Amino acid sequence: MAIDREVYLDNAATTYCNGEVFYAMQPYFITNYGNPNSLHQIGYTAREAIENARASVAKIINADPDEIYFTSGATEANNWVLKGIVAASPIKRVLVSAIEHPSITETARWLTENGVEVDYIKVDENGIISIPDLLAKLSKPTCLVSVMTANHEVGTVQYINTIANICSKNNVYFHTDATQALESVHINVKEMQITALSLSGHKIYGPKGVGVLYLKRGTPIETFIHGGYQENGMRAGTYNLPAIVGLGKAVEICMRDGNTNNTRMKQLRDYLIKEIEAKIPGVKLNGHRTQRLNNNVNFSFQGISGESITAMLDTMGICASTGTASTSEMLSRSYVLQAIGVNDDYINGAVRFTLGRATTKEDLDYTVACLVNVVKKLRALSPINIKTEVSENV
Ligand code: PMP
Repeated sequence: MAIDREVYLDNAATTYCNGEVFYAMQPYFITNYGNPNSLHQIGYTAREAIENARASVAKIINADPDEIYFTSGATEANNWVLKGIVAASPIKRVLVSAIEHPSITETARWLTENGVEVDYIKVDENGIISIPDLLAKLSKPTCLVSVMTANHEVGTVQYINTIANICSKNNVYFHTDATQALESVHINVKEMQITALSLSGHKIYGPKGVGVLYLKRGTPIETFIHGGYQENGMRAGTYNLPAIVGLGKAVEICMRDGNTNNTRMKQLRDYLIKEIEAKIPGVKLNGHRTQRLNNNVNFSFQGISGESITAMLDTMGICASTGTASTSEMLSRSYVLQAIGVNDDYINGAVRFTLGRATTKEDLDYTVACLVNVVKKLRALSPINIKTEVSENV
């Protein structure tokens, strides 16, 4: 049966490419296709476009343009910053939070296998970093702390300012993965004393396959991608010119429209939370209720699996996810939900709805109406008798 309705609520996995971004990129495929390193007119035009994009990215986080390095995405930026800072430091110890994206946790695992000590900072039941735990773990010599600005799964936004301040006082480098947070959270790397920060194009209505590592000037780091002399010899490889232009445009749009988008998104987010809690019994909001991304709603539905819910919603034209795009193929327990202590009854039943610029209130009303039916059906089919527990929860 064909569904004529599409409701895309998976904007944390990726966003559509904004039309203005697309049209800004277009000439750089066809007419201004030069290699930014070439010493002729077409090359200079390309170089100028790269430097304009660099200036826009620098501006949104209050960095200097020479502190911005273009990468293939946040995964590369995260790999580079962890491996590169440790390699350049005599102190072979890093701290990461227990709920980082796999591009940090898997890199940390690789570091462990290669002789680096990695310790994991605890989070509370809302996903907020434990400051006492951070302080205790900083009592041993450490070269780098990495804590994401906002979590990709449950949307919790960290008190980055406080964490960065503590690191600075302890003479430890501080990196934050701001991939999910650029539009929602105001970041000022200079004021906040942030050493390094990762970004990605395709979470902010830009193209896929492009990202950024901001690195404070003078921070010792080993090169990660060796080759030509691009990015001052720090990151080799011919520039992905159209994508970098697109990223620059996407950032400009965030700066131009961010306030309006955030106000609207937050209202829609709170509306969806209210509606789900009012209409469906046996639900638990994952992540912090207010200290969360403006577009993130993550609920666990007691006694049923998130995979069954998203599969049924998909047949109704609703695109949601159980967590990250990277793990949605696997029916494994979310380490993020484990770290925040979600109990057995709820841990398999998480669904993440991430709203976007195109989301409307009507989309959310349709989603809630479908969700009410889906949850009812799945609970009726469930071999576990959860009905009494559910009614006690109402
Ligand atoms: N960090 C976070 C928090 C993310 O959500 C993602 C993408 N899911 C990444 C890093 C990886 O970004 P990219 O796709 O640009 O490699």
